[in-house]
Amino acid sequence: MECRLAEHAGFCFGVRRAMETVYKQIEENPETPIYTYGPIIHNDEVVKELLSKGVRAIEDDELDTLDGGIMIIRSHGVPKATEERIKSRGFKVVDATCPFVKKIHRTVEKAGAEGKNVIIIGSREHPEVQGIIGWCSTPFYVIEDISDVENIPFGKDSEIHLVSQTTYNLLKFKEIVDYIEKKGYYINVVNTICNATEERQSAAMELAKAADCMIVIGGKNSSNSRKLYDICSRECANTHFIQTLDDLHLELSKSVGLVGITAGASTPNNIIEEVQNYVRNEF
Ligand code: SF4
Repeated sequence: MECRLAEHAGFCFGVRRAMETVYKQIEENPETPIYTYGPIIHNDEVVKELLSKGVRAIEDDELDTLDGGIMIIRSHGVPKATEERIKSRGFKVVDATCPFVKKIHRTVEKAGAEGKNVIIIGSREHPEVQGIIGWCSTPFYVIEDISDVENIPFGKDSEIHLVSQTTYNLLKFKEIVDYIEKKGYYINVVNTICNATEERQSAAMELAKAADCMIVIGGKNSSNSRKLYDICSRECANTHFIQTLDDLHLELSKSVGLVGITAGASTPNNIIEEVQNYVRNEF
């Protein structure tokens, strides 16, 4: 029996980089209190492990109660004012904002300096979009879906700079941009979609097509892991969704030739390896 790990399983580049930043800070600053501004990733095991090493995830309202230290900004990024507030409270800011997200901050900031209005395609409440909004200095408007195009508050003669949340669906993005252009708005489009999610999903789908059994590792509350599970289940009826190795109760018949494994964006490598080793050694 063969056990194969899907390409792009687990952390994307930005999350891996943020995690590495935290571990580097722990190593280099054993005497300094280290915090992350919100949980570094949505994985309870990781947050617990970091806490055991003294790294605490804090919420905004705790800022005023702490006496400085190192504050790590997670891959989603934060508004400019938040960054300034953290600094003014005496923290050293270590910015682990994903470079792809940082690029969006820079482009909307520049657009603001040039007096252009900004449209952001994405989910209004998502921390990444909230962060982007916080780098806009001119009027901005968030489009969640195509129906919001009807309510664009800018004139057709104004210059509009348009960006997207990194995880927005590419087809929907193109559809919205086409519609805005058709309506006669003057937009400067920067496609800021990151393909990490799409790559992970299509690699999982390909593997699930060939596999006799598929294992998806991810947090129960992680929507991208659930999505991976849905995609794999459609291709392979024998698909299991687990958080850690403890949840895995596999019984494989002799006819199983290929077991595939994939993992959501916030699943650490050690959990993936543990599952992989177990399947390889036990079957
Ligand atoms: Fe990961 Fe892409 Fe988001 Fe960066 S922009 S954190 S690489 S999904």
